[in-house]
Amino acid sequence: MKKQILLCMLALGMLSSCGSVTSDESSAVETVKTEVNDADRETIFQVSLLQGLTLGDYYGSVTVKELKQHGDIGIGTFEGVNGELIMVDGVVYRALSDGSVETAPDDETIPFSNVTFFDADEKQDISGISNIAELKGILDEKVEKLGRNRFYMVRIDGSFNNVHARSELKQQEPYKPLAEALKTDQREFKWDKIDGTVVALYCPEYMNDLNAVGWHMHFISADKTKGGHLLDIDIDTAELKTDCTLGFNMLLPNTKMFPGLDLTVDQSDDIKKVETKD
Ligand SMILES: [Zn+2]
Repeated sequence: MKKQILLCMLALGMLSSCGSVTSDESSAVETVKTEVNDADRETIFQVSLLQGLTLGDYYGSVTVKELKQHGDIGIGTFEGVNGELIMVDGVVYRALSDGSVETAPDDETIPFSNVTFFDADEKQDISGISNIAELKGILDEKVEKLGRNRFYMVRIDGSFNNVHARSELKQQEPYKPLAEALKTDQREFKWDKIDGTVVALYCPEYMNDLNAVGWHMHFISADKTKGGHLLDIDIDTAELKTDCTLGFNMLLPNTKMFPGLDLTVDQSDDIKKVETKD
């Protein structure tokens, strides 16, 4: 990462103070600290802008190995949008265009991702959630309560009645804008009665030019054989854990395409198109 620029967008000083948002003592979660310092643990690390990816900058700028130094949970994609990235428990998985999952090699490169070290500030049991809109409703309520101007990484482990996810075919150069590529190369999957984990990132409203505002969710099955970008979900029972994060670090990519991208163009519509099923 020598030639790349690390931007510290927000102050890192208020470590663990998100812990104070836990309203119910019984839901507090004991966290196990590793050797990673607190500033890194309480930071969302972002590779590039989603708006760079949507314009077609699919060139990888950090390796899987480097990404793991910045978190143990997260979402993203790979060079050439070669599948959906899901990181859980420190392992980086790739959901391929057929919905199957493999472990990503350490030297694979990544054009866009968000990761953090997961320290749950609170947890909650949920059940009988019949679709993603309902799930987002519950998560939005949580954000309203905890503060909408912070970042949240959420982990949902449970049994699901149905999961609807997508991945995409690896793109070839010259790269097309993502919305255009997905028109022909998106592949969707539906799995019934499946156990697994949803990793969800919440970005506040002021991130509108840098990422997708609101929730972005990826799924991986408990046996790590199926996964993708989450389009819809029917939850039987699950445990939802929330990690409130006060820091934000963004790495501008050192790719050949990035310096020339016109990032002044409003891409809200395209981002909505690539993030949701409608
Ligand atoms: Zn995604």
